[in-house]
Amino acid sequence: MGTGPRCCSAVKRWGTGTKKELDELNRKVRIGKSDLLVNPIGLGTNAVGGHNLFPNLDEAAGRELVRLGLANGINFLDTAFIYGPKRSEEIIGEVVKESSSRSEIVIATKAAHKFAGNEIVMDNSPAFLKQSVEHALKRLQTDYIDLFYIHFPDKDTPKDEAVGALKLLKDEGKIRAIGVSNFSIDQLKEANKDGYVDVYQGEYNLLSREAEKELFPYAAEHQISFIPYFPLASGLLTGKYTRDTELSEKMRKRPQFQEGAYEQNLDKIDKVRNIAAAKGAEVAHVVLAWYLTRDVIDVIIPGAKRAAQVLQNLKTLEVALSTEEINEIDQIFKR
Ligand code: NAP
Repeated sequence: MGTGPRCCSAVKRWGTGTKKELDELNRKVRIGKSDLLVNPIGLGTNAVGGHNLFPNLDEAAGRELVRLGLANGINFLDTAFIYGPKRSEEIIGEVVKESSSRSEIVIATKAAHKFAGNEIVMDNSPAFLKQSVEHALKRLQTDYIDLFYIHFPDKDTPKDEAVGALKLLKDEGKIRAIGVSNFSIDQLKEANKDGYVDVYQGEYNLLSREAEKELFPYAAEHQISFIPYFPLASGLLTGKYTRDTELSEKMRKRPQFQEGAYEQNLDKIDKVRNIAAAKGAEVAHVVLAWYLTRDVIDVIIPGAKRAAQVLQNLKTLEVALSTEEINEIDQIFKR
């Protein structure tokens, strides 16, 4: 794996949806060196039951969007203990249970948050991780978790010891692959001392490219698959925001929505809009397709609050970017 674009035709354009085309559309990619095979468009589910993250969430809508995603070829679901807390994992467990294809579905979950009185602290100790896996298995109503991440680093646990505990759980068949999230590059190196880390999950999108500096090259060198979170910059990179959009105070607090930065970001997104329009695609498809041209990225997990968004994001698979377009997008967001 290198750090440049994989290939201009990594994502192909399909036509009218014959049986053969649909089979190809549902093709799977391997996540790094793991044995997990997934549709490159996965689903982030922090808004499925994530009541602590989003007010007034409609659980029925969350359940429905997961069902619809699975029915339309998505087979990679990203959840975590802290989404809810617990509720996102429970809903994923219920929906997966309804389907007859557990072995086709790849469930990723995460843990590290521990409630200590009124406070939440991070815990990466082997005992806590082991207990977290056991509890997640129950909420997800499954015998194994396909990908288990340490969600955030704690202060004390040596990171190779934490990952060593996950390796034991992998050997026992309770998890199939090991991930870490939100680790610094040094923490990742320590975590991967024995080469056991399969996946790194971190913030990355066209407006936030810090990970390219150190995390991407290290991940490429060690066959660690990089899964970006906030791939749509919480919706900004779908192109639905304009200069006239009234932003809530909460939105304005996010760096990419702050006055000045927001207007500059919209200028960049307008340039992508032109590229997308020329291809008969939408901004979100072009943005998501661009991530899949990065060598270290095998799969993306855009989040959704409505079923229609899931179907929209799946259309990314129909977009092929030329080398010129890949480079042009790269440059737009480097300026
Ligand atoms: P995101 O993917 O950048 O944005 C998702 C949001 O964009 C949706 O909730 C929806 O919000 C909007 N959206 C999605 N598709 C759309 C479409 N086609 N058209 C218009 N709007 C659309 O952010 P995210 O969901 O926070 O991140 C992705 C996933 O990463 C999460 O679900 C979670 O699984 C994971 N994550 C992990 C960490 C970590 O610490 N490891 C941190 C954050 C997230 P609106 O409808 O409100 O606009």
